[in-house]
Amino acid sequence: MGIKDSGSSGTLSVIRVTGCVTQYEDERQQQVLLIMRQARSKAGAEEPPMNALLTRFQTLLALVAAVSTTSAWSWGADGHHTVGALAAQLIQGTNAQTQASALLNGLSLADAAVWADCAKGIDPDKDYTYTVPNRYPECKVFETPEGIAEMSDYVRRNDTNCRRLPKDESCHKQYHYTDVAVQRDHYQPGLAGTRDSDVVAAVAAATRVLRGEPSPAPFSFKSPREALLVLAHLVGDIHQPLHVGAVYLDAFGKPVDPDAQPEDPATETRGGNSIGAIFVPTNRRIANLHQTWDDIPLALNATAVDAAWSKQARAVPKAAGPATDWPAAWATGTLKQASQVAYQGLAYGEQKAGAWSTPLTTRYYDAMQPVKKKQLTAAGAHLAQLLRAVWP
Ligand SMILES: [Zn+2]
Repeated sequence: MGIKDSGSSGTLSVIRVTGCVTQYEDERQQQVLLIMRQARSKAGAEEPPMNALLTRFQTLLALVAAVSTTSAWSWGADGHHTVGALAAQLIQGTNAQTQASALLNGLSLADAAVWADCAKGIDPDKDYTYTVPNRYPECKVFETPEGIAEMSDYVRRNDTNCRRLPKDESCHKQYHYTDVAVQRDHYQPGLAGTRDSDVVAAVAAATRVLRGEPSPAPFSFKSPREALLVLAHLVGDIHQPLHVGAVYLDAFGKPVDPDAQPEDPATETRGGNSIGAIFVPTNRRIANLHQTWDDIPLALNATAVDAAWSKQARAVPKAAGPATDWPAAWATGTLKQASQVAYQGLAYGEQKAGAWSTPLTTRYYDAMQPVKKKQLTAAGAHLAQLLRAVWP
């Protein structure tokens, strides 16, 4: 359903994270079961030094199992719930809370933060109907006749309104990411992988609409409520390293610089969705690289938002300049996490059936977790800062 591309590599179909998960979920669950069986047989055979590794590995399995049931939507619903919950804590008792609550009309900011992903369940090829009822628990809250009509109307207006080649996905799905090469040290419009319909432009546009200004082209945000629903989600996405930084690869898996040569779509890795992640201890493919970053451990979900975590979020500094400039600054921060952690030290196999592969070590997984927390914290803080700037 509106999937950008669906090349296939091994048994795992490759989809853009911004598309809904479809048939490949079952394949992944089977793979996870396979990995778990291997882990169990290992547990009986290995010497004690292996135990520490296994503990971490079992944590990983839980993560993989979690993502396989919650979908490959950006950050996963859990991450977006966390961002909304953090922001809600930070605006408590302020005018921003009063104004946001009035627009959301009973919906919490945490629930609102997944709306833009749930809207991907509207299929333009089926007369903008909602094709995934009862499939995603986080979307349940929008699955009323009015809620579905609201998502359908949004997708209808934001489907073909941007510059869109036949291979490109629906415009509203493009709002969730940008693909700046990891060789760059900051986000700047015009760089390879940026678009006037990318996540940086979308957050700025939604901010304007929240302030009562008209929706800037190509975006069609019809009301402050719709702008808030979009914003609550995209501020999360703009902090996911693989939603901002991208590696571009040639057919041999060698990184290329898309800003130093004519843009070649064949080098696009689609936010790591075209890169299969091979977990070194098992030598098995576990997910694509993007999914390993979307996946949120239990310790970072919304129920873990407590006073200590809120305090950390309150300490996140505000970007300089007007609020509409902030998204570009945030993207630059996220790009650094992409180049310095997410893509750091990775090697890629040659392209097969439209996809590459990369081995991931336990050390890599260990390095991911603090970055996930840091980015979720920044996202919650930045969402709150933006809402307070709109409604001082
Ligand atoms: Zn998203």
